Amino acid sequence: MGRIRVLSDTVADQIAAGEVVERPASVVKELVENSLDAGSYTIAVELEDGGRALIRVSDDGVGMDREDAVLALDRHATSKISSTTDLIGVATYGFRGEALPSVASVSLLELESAAASSEATAAGEGTKVVSRGGRIEKVEPVARNQGTTVTVKRLFFNTPARRKFLKSQRSETRAAVQALTVLALARLDVSFSLVSDSRTLLTAPRVSAVADRVAALFGRQLAAQLLPVDYANGPISIRGFVQRPAEAKSSGRKAHLFVNGRPFRDPFLIRAAENGYRATIPAGVRPTLFLAIGIPGDRVDVNVHPAKLEVRFRDKMFIERAVEEAVRDALRPLEAAVRMVGLDRDAAGTDDRQFVGSVPDQRSGFPGRREDAGTYGTLGLALDGPPASVAAYGRKFLQVFDTYILFETPAGIAIVDQHSAHERVLYERAMAELKAGGGAAQRLLLPLTVDLEPPELEAVEQNQEQLNAIGFEVEGFGGQSVVIHAVPNPHPRFDARRCFEELVADLAHGRLEGLNRLERFAATYACRAAIKAGQTLDHGEVRDLLHRLLACELPPHDVHGRPSIVQLPLSELERRFGRA
Ligand code: ADP
Ligand code: MG
Repeated sequence: MGRIRVLSDTVADQIAAGEVVERPASVVKELVENSLDAGSYTIAVELEDGGRALIRVSDDGVGMDREDAVLALDRHATSKISSTTDLIGVATYGFRGEALPSVASVSLLELESAAASSEATAAGEGTKVVSRGGRIEKVEPVARNQGTTVTVKRLFFNTPARRKFLKSQRSETRAAVQALTVLALARLDVSFSLVSDSRTLLTAPRVSAVADRVAALFGRQLAAQLLPVDYANGPISIRGFVQRPAEAKSSGRKAHLFVNGRPFRDPFLIRAAENGYRATIPAGVRPTLFLAIGIPGDRVDVNVHPAKLEVRFRDKMFIERAVEEAVRDALRPLEAAVRMVGLDRDAAGTDDRQFVGSVPDQRSGFPGRREDAGTYGTLGLALDGPPASVAAYGRKFLQVFDTYILFETPAGIAIVDQHSAHERVLYERAMAELKAGGGAAQRLLLPLTVDLEPPELEAVEQNQEQLNAIGFEVEGFGGQSVVIHAVPNPHPRFDARRCFEELVADLAHGRLEGLNRLERFAATYACRAAIKAGQTLDHGEVRDLLHRLLACELPPHDVHGRPSIVQLPLSELERRFGRA
């Protein structure tokens, strides 16, 4: 006897719903994506009881006529693709034709829609479709504006097991807000709002600058901490914003990735972005990131996850490297140095354009963006990176407290910590020497003999090669001491014995978490070899130090996650003195 049966559509829809509709937030995501695909300018979301009682998404998009409004609830009914080749580089959020039937199968769903007036329909003539658990109960005309409103009541009313899995009203609401936030980051050209039990939780009016959107969603304070990312390499571009290292914290960060305007998740890419921060933040600190990748549609597959939360890149390694480099580049300019500004206002001064970039493929009726991407506003020297020579900053340097160096930049006053700055310089030089094997050393006429404890002796043995590479030529002397025949020469007042002793002590008692072995060695050496706070430097030395600092890969950050440059923006001076 045959035991195999084809499942009824209702059962099949409920199974599909298991993948697509996990909780109210997933309904919000699917409905809002539909509204975006329909070219809406304004999208309003309403929730009652965390979405358990009601979820409503209203838009002013292209709408549907009667026939389409009914068809939309059918499985695999979609206006967005018609053949598998359309899947390559698909530019709409939806394409599976699964969301509406899935949501409908586990709720009481009402869809009201009106298309633009045509020969067949006058303006204001719309259709209302009422469905219960996926079965259409009523189709009737309604009067309404062009656009669509989908109301989902009593989600999971017919699947009590699923309903039990819902979390508290607060956490369902939070997840729904989060889902909308992500889409709002991707689409600055659309207004979004979310009202929950009559309280407005999110308002994001249409904007052209992403900093304004970030400010609307997360507040001005975070917006002011972000540095622009603007990177291109062959076919791919990476734009967005990353947090200034000095302002990154160990909790509460936000990390959002987009590809061709579509939000997606990828812990490996987030890791790659964090790698861009190496040696600029302490271990355990997690910077906020918004990164939008632009890539030809055929190099990324967006059809690999039922809720389209993940994508697959054809060349993942290349993308990871590019992301790391893009972040690294963003941290390079003086602009990346921590700013001294009042927090009572928008101090961002950041960007002027959409960071998500334009969608390369405009097929499939995707509305795309209505405004061209603008350009960055003036950022002083920020986007040019540091000049090759400090000469660009003239001769106005001032050492104060024998510890800090002040100089003028087009964007304000840069304040350099002489120890941190020198540390950064020596760190990068040591890394280069460690990789190339062998830097400049100075032979000593009278070798130094240094007495060490067993753990330090062991550290010398273990790091012999690296010590050599940076210029310490060390020889075991038997017993408790070593003899040093040559030493590095990082600055005229260098105390080789003291540096060596401190270095091996640090190596033996391992500090500096979160760096690899070479980086740790270089950082430890740099810290011990650098000029100290409290040393008077003459004009030539100051100049030399700044020159070397500005030629570094990452001038504004020391190797412990502290700043080496603090900037006092000219705009802040102007504001304080009432010149703004
Ligand atoms: P998909 O988005 O994958 O096409 P859905 O089940 O989400 O599948 O939607 C089915 C179809 O219904 C869409 O292709 C679209 O034509 C239509 N539709 C859904 N929501 C809207 C909307 N808000 N405005 C206009 N058309 C819509
Ligand atoms: Mg859809």
